[in-house]
Amino acid sequence: MVGMARARSRVVPAPLAPPEIAFTNLDKVLFRESGFSKGELIRYYLDAAPCLLPHLRDRPVTLIRFPDGVGGESFYEKNVPKHAPSWIATQMVAHRHRADGTRYILINDAPTLAWCANLAAIELHPFLHRAPALGRPTHLVFDLDPGEGADLLTCAEVAFLVKQILDGLALESFAKVSGSKGLQLYVPLNTELTYAATRAFAKGVAEHLEQTRPDLVVSGMAKALRRGRVLIDWSQNHEAKTTVGVYSVRGKRERPFVSMPVRWEELRRLRDPGTLFFEPAAALRRLAKLGDLFAPLLRLEQRLPPAFGRLGPDAAPAPMPSFAAYEAKRDFRRTREPAPAAAADAKKLSPAKQTALARAAGGAAAPRFVIQKHDATRLHYDIRLEMHGALKSWAVPKGLPTSLGVKHAAIEVEDHPLDYLRFEGVIPKGQYGGGTVMVWDIGTYELLGGSHASGNLKLRLAGKKLRGEWHLFKIRSEEEKPTWLVAKSGEAAPPLSDFQETRSVLSRRTLAGIARAGG
Ligand code: MN
Repeated sequence: MVGMARARSRVVPAPLAPPEIAFTNLDKVLFRESGFSKGELIRYYLDAAPCLLPHLRDRPVTLIRFPDGVGGESFYEKNVPKHAPSWIATQMVAHRHRADGTRYILINDAPTLAWCANLAAIELHPFLHRAPALGRPTHLVFDLDPGEGADLLTCAEVAFLVKQILDGLALESFAKVSGSKGLQLYVPLNTELTYAATRAFAKGVAEHLEQTRPDLVVSGMAKALRRGRVLIDWSQNHEAKTTVGVYSVRGKRERPFVSMPVRWEELRRLRDPGTLFFEPAAALRRLAKLGDLFAPLLRLEQRLPPAFGRLGPDAAPAPMPSFAAYEAKRDFRRTREPAPAAAADAKKLSPAKQTALARAAGGAAAPRFVIQKHDATRLHYDIRLEMHGALKSWAVPKGLPTSLGVKHAAIEVEDHPLDYLRFEGVIPKGQYGGGTVMVWDIGTYELLGGSHASGNLKLRLAGKKLRGEWHLFKIRSEEEKPTWLVAKSGEAAPPLSDFQETRSVLSRRTLAGIARAGG
């Protein structure tokens, strides 16, 4: 337990009882030149935690892991690993153009930070927004990346050009060394601004400086143009992009340099770029002496010029799962159906449920579906498709057709939480949907075309009973429960045996068997 006692200071309390972390291979050397080990990395992060954690809080984060140390293979980890303990807080982020999403880690406490460091996650790359406001950057970033022949001195020169524009607009800005080659300029916002606004502003500044100082600045991404110049990368101001976090160690160089705030005065006086490369021990000494120079990022409220403030959000924001309707219909003291697991509110969940959710969301696996046979007031089937962190759900009285040319009605109902996928049991009489529920078929599906929003879904199901293509399309949307039709497409499906028709794919029980066991 490296430094855990100190790490559990009052900065950000752990959500549950202090977790045990099984640290492994603490002697593993991550940086060969200096012999910097994984144990030292964990130690550094725990010592930096009081300053680091407030900057990471509630920001989904991408880890860059170096299992074999720097020089070996590294990879970006976005999804929370499947083996993550249940006390790790997470945030589901729906993909804009796909049916599924990514469940990111939120590093909100020292144990989580230590656990990530133990994965040899040298670099921490948070988003510019905090959950649950996924479309609202809390600051704007100019990433100054020197091309060949340029260095930190050139970056400092360009940083002052940017600062001059910002000063003219009465916007305070703060600089940090990236810990790689360049500098990053942060403009605290902490106001209602969209990425469309911050990106347009940053791009405008970059293009203006490219025109006025073509000798020093480029704003385009082409590497060939960068020789001797500095790229002002404005494109980081995007809901899908992360930037290396303040106080993160970098795995770019032969030694463990930290992305560290620097004062404007230090940049003004800079002669030897080497003085602004800080290894962890130096970074901690500096923190002890100067405190968190990035503290204003946490609270300083600033607005961009009005024209930018009026820019709305990027296109339609990806829908976040909402289980309000699901929750309103059920009394979770009475039914054993899963309580909604609001993605932004994972701390409310039991550890077991958090684990289940983390597992459920782990990996970039195909989205899942379930068909439940439901013996309620009327026997029917419910088909549920995993989409945007929820189960889109339809009640299909006659079930999915297996022959071509046959259409069955499918009534869309409220979104169900993901752990409804494996719900089988008895809903008590008097409760919404009272009756017996069987997991009749389960598997994954592929979206062949269409979208839920357009009321048209072409699916290929890969279940244990049903395999092949189906087409779901909306015919009436004016009511609370829109009516869709479901038809077989592609080829007809083979008929099911009596055993298949009447048994659960999870437990092989019949509806009567489930009712007896769960009554
Ligand atoms: Mn039902």
